[in-house]
Amino acid sequence: IPAYLASEVSIPHSTNMITFEFATLEFASPSSHQYQYKLDGFDPDWISSGTEHSAVYTNLDPGTYTFRVRGDNRDGIWDTKGTSFKLIVLPPWWRTWWAYAFYAIALVGGVFAFIRIRTSGLNRQKELLERTVAERTTELSRKKDEADAQRKRAEQSEQVKQQFLANMSHEIRTPMNAIMGMSTSLKRNEHLPAQESYLDAIAQSSENLLVIVNDILDLSKIEAGKLELEQVPLDPREVLRSVVDVLRHRTEEKGLLVRMEVDPAVPARVIGDPTRLHQVLMNLVGNAIKFTERGSVRITLQVKEQLSEAVMLRFVVTDTGIGIAPENLARVFDEFAQGDSDHTRKYGGTGLGLSISKRLVYMQGGTITAQSELGKGSAFTVVIPYGIAAQGTRTTVQAPDNTQPATRRPATHSTPWRILLAEDNRFNVVVAQDELNHTYPGVHIDVAPNGSIAVDMVQANTYDLVLMDVQMPVMDGYEATRAIRALPGDTSRIPILAMTANVMKAEVDRCLEAGMDGFIPKPFRREELVEAIRKVCER
Ligand code: ADP
Repeated sequence: IPAYLASEVSIPHSTNMITFEFATLEFASPSSHQYQYKLDGFDPDWISSGTEHSAVYTNLDPGTYTFRVRGDNRDGIWDTKGTSFKLIVLPPWWRTWWAYAFYAIALVGGVFAFIRIRTSGLNRQKELLERTVAERTTELSRKKDEADAQRKRAEQSEQVKQQFLANMSHEIRTPMNAIMGMSTSLKRNEHLPAQESYLDAIAQSSENLLVIVNDILDLSKIEAGKLELEQVPLDPREVLRSVVDVLRHRTEEKGLLVRMEVDPAVPARVIGDPTRLHQVLMNLVGNAIKFTERGSVRITLQVKEQLSEAVMLRFVVTDTGIGIAPENLARVFDEFAQGDSDHTRKYGGTGLGLSISKRLVYMQGGTITAQSELGKGSAFTVVIPYGIAAQGTRTTVQAPDNTQPATRRPATHSTPWRILLAEDNRFNVVVAQDELNHTYPGVHIDVAPNGSIAVDMVQANTYDLVLMDVQMPVMDGYEATRAIRALPGDTSRIPILAMTANVMKAEVDRCLEAGMDGFIPKPFRREELVEAIRKVCER
């Protein structure tokens, strides 16, 4: 473009090559003119081009430049004014202000979007987390509710089971009392010789049935954790003697010799659970008698170890019976395990006795072991730690009849002559009458069919003893006992023995609370009856 047509020119960045041509307006010898030029903004200094009258620039950065050129006159003097021409190299579109503005907006938008995305991501994550936590919490509380409900159901069903067992054992015991009592009476009275074996079978079978009922009830109590141990003063000799007394008729029947050896070092009073000791020893001595046809049963009691606050007592029950094969010895303490598969048939039993004994001994912190030789005999050893009783503590033997310390009138004689029998079941009346008549020949027995009549009769007559059934119509045994204890004078202190088919501890406690002196489980063995009566009447 000739400079006189424009003073400036704009060229795009892409076509970035420009040639300036110039000429002086001196027309004399134009080819001898010298030139200098300079592109302001690019060249730091003037450039002499000699007589050449063009300048070429390539790759100029975008921007505004001023091209200056000057020529000399013939005298070699530079035209100081020269001429100038403005050159604008346009930036590419991506370097224009609006492009930068766009970049800025995009950057700000990008940062903003990034933050938005980040926060929304975090929010989503937070929400997800919150949802998960909420879900887990709900699930957890649902599971807890479920577990609670399950536990409650289990507790309820355990309670139902306990109640069922208590009721069942009561329902079984009541008729068993009649069966056992009457078969004993029949055996005692006149009968045909051929009937002897039938009567034996009835007696043996009912005895076995009773053991099973007792064992199952015990096991269920142990398993339910319902069995509470007592910590009361007891006389170990007394417990041992009571076991031997109860089982005496069986040893006599079999013609076995029973020997009891007690080391004098054994204290007369220790602290522990007499009922459980009685139960364990009954099982061991009972087994010894059951599995021995000839010879003897020996029971020894020694101090195994004397500690400062306790004494370890060792009871050993040795017999000369059938013995146990070595391979079966370890198993005899298992539930339903018997030394020989034909033992049930031959000797009866359930195989529960020793497993219950073992649990009872372990619960008391003791040990139980067995030694035996087939055909020679067996020895069962029980070691139980007992507390040492303080001096002057009253001894209470609660086994087998759970009698209480004497707080009532001391009877004048240990044999009752006049007995009031409060009992509504007529079969059981016959059984009790028969047993009492047999045990105390000439005894006078009155019968009261319910508690209310019993209270009236106690007031109207004089008795040495009341045998009180617990469950009776009109007025039950607890209420009748309370009514008798509330009477004026000596009558209120008459010995009262409960007779009940319910042997749960709660029932025993209830009887004692009502003011009864002792407890006879139904069905009773004659020895138990005699023992219980002796205890309350001797006081
Ligand atoms: P049960 O006597 O009801 O069968 P136990 O648990 O009391 O159940 O005894 C388990 C088994 O151990 C018995 O069946 C018997 O085989 C064996 N046993 C226990 N005591 C003796 C003993 N004194 N002599 C021989 N065997 C015995």
